Amino acid sequence: MKIIDILKDHRMSLSFEVFPPKKESGFESVKEATEKIASYRPSFMSVTYGAGGGTSRYTLDIARNIKEVFGVPTLAHLTCVSSSRETVREQIRLMREADIKNVMALRGDLTPELEKTDRAKWDYQYAVQLIRELKECDSDFCIGAACYPEIHPESPNQKEDILHIREKVEAGADFLTTQMVFDNDLFFNFMYKLREAGVNVPVIPGIMPITNANQVERAIKLSGSFMPQRFKSLVDYFGKEPDTMKQAGIAYATAQIIDLYANGITNVHVYSMNKPDVAKAIKDNLSAILGKDFDR
Ligand code: FAD
Repeated sequence: MKIIDILKDHRMSLSFEVFPPKKESGFESVKEATEKIASYRPSFMSVTYGAGGGTSRYTLDIARNIKEVFGVPTLAHLTCVSSSRETVREQIRLMREADIKNVMALRGDLTPELEKTDRAKWDYQYAVQLIRELKECDSDFCIGAACYPEIHPESPNQKEDILHIREKVEAGADFLTTQMVFDNDLFFNFMYKLREAGVNVPVIPGIMPITNANQVERAIKLSGSFMPQRFKSLVDYFGKEPDTMKQAGIAYATAQIIDLYANGITNVHVYSMNKPDVAKAIKDNLSAILGKDFDR
């Protein structure tokens, strides 16, 4: 099933993101965790991709397993930043062979090593080129792309960032998923600007449940996302008690999702980080809201 058909359906959707193992030794435990998450029947699951190709094989293995064993539609991520055209084309061939129809097309982060190299020599500078490549290989791919309610860190300003998002949509991106947001007002404001700029595809807000205090610093560093004071207070108050912090983080993410649904945002993506208990708790919290029509 194509993700765009799920997003355009008027029913609410809830999707989960998982990541593949870095090494073969971690494969079984990640497979088990992702299978548990799939058994909670999210609308779809996305599987991230290690830029540089470190975990590329496992992205497809995990995505295919979820799709074939649980019938949950999957979205396989693919990055292009340090890859040759040949490598990307091979990945696309493998996706088609695995019957993966949904691809999240990303540039990938610039590592300090990459920053030192000559960008002009790269086969791909930006995600938009990967989107064009995917479309050229198979016009039937359903393609997602990333967007940043608080501006991509390398962008000089939001106007320019949004113009590049629009380029991705014009190149063939069917939908967008946001970087994690902890304050829904930032998302609503961003939506207004996207629509004003003529970006009219579905946009899925990305929600990251923070379930331990140590995650906070890492999440801010990785995403640059703004942490509202009410969230910081929660971490200050509950952070030292792991079990309590976990429940508080789940409650915060649930409240954020309810607010999004209540304001007409029908699709929400949860960065579930291979944590079945967190995915289950959020899905259970929302089950009465999602209703019996939720399972497709
Ligand atoms: P791009 O769209 O190429 O944008 C990167 C920067 O370049 C932006 O500042 C943009 O404004 C600018 N830009 C774009 N086009 C042009 C142009 N033509 N001229 C000048 N400037 C331009 N990383 C992974 O490694 N693996 C993953 O699986 C993964 N999944 C992700 C999922 C989501 C939902 C999100 C939000 C991010 C994900 N990332 C992942 C991280 C992502 O790779 C980084 O954020 C990366 O820095 C940017 O990727 P992008 O696809 O948004 O890049």
